[in-house]
Amino acid sequence: MREIYGLIKSQSPPHHFEFSDPFWVLITTVLSHRTKDEVTDASARALFERYRTAEALARADPEEVRQIIRRVGFSRVKAGRVIEVAKTVVGRFGGRVPSTLEELVTIPGVGRKTANVVLADAFGIPAIAVDTHVHRIANRIGWVSTKKPEETEEDLRRIVPEDLWLGFNPTLVEFGKHVCRPVGPKCGECKVSQYCEYYKKKVR
Ligand code: SF4
Repeated sequence: MREIYGLIKSQSPPHHFEFSDPFWVLITTVLSHRTKDEVTDASARALFERYRTAEALARADPEEVRQIIRRVGFSRVKAGRVIEVAKTVVGRFGGRVPSTLEELVTIPGVGRKTANVVLADAFGIPAIAVDTHVHRIANRIGWVSTKKPEETEEDLRRIVPEDLWLGFNPTLVEFGKHVCRPVGPKCGECKVSQYCEYYKKKVR
């Protein structure tokens, strides 16, 4: 596991983090669903320029927010969602994003993946966020054999040493964007191929 992860890391460019502030990490992650990172980051930046704080976003006009984030997928739904998140953070948590998984998942629209991203990227708390990249790669390599991301998270929490949890998601996201792509994985140049179940089946 450790050796394979090291090989993955050696092929993954550094991940770009747009924000370190917990509230904006949370908002960026809510916006990111089914949206390219560049578009998500630009939209989150534009939102931040306009509102700056959870209090300001909580009072925002949904149509104005939708206009600002119009390039992200499902912009109408996400506009409502980020305002709702802001209202909850202000109304229930005094304007501060909570730092436990149990509290984070009580915020409307926040699931385990988003909560784990916030824990790891904003608070530096070891957590494994399973998005489509992590789910796909873990199954291809054969670390897990699962249908749902929640099952993948449960299994990975058992098999990934805890000192690797921080940075695990960003490393696999970059690996998934550049090497183990959803369509057309670059198996021929991948340093992990000798350990990878998907590759072994492919060349059999
Ligand atoms: Fe992904 Fe192919 Fe590398 Fe396996 S060998 S991890 S499928 S790129």
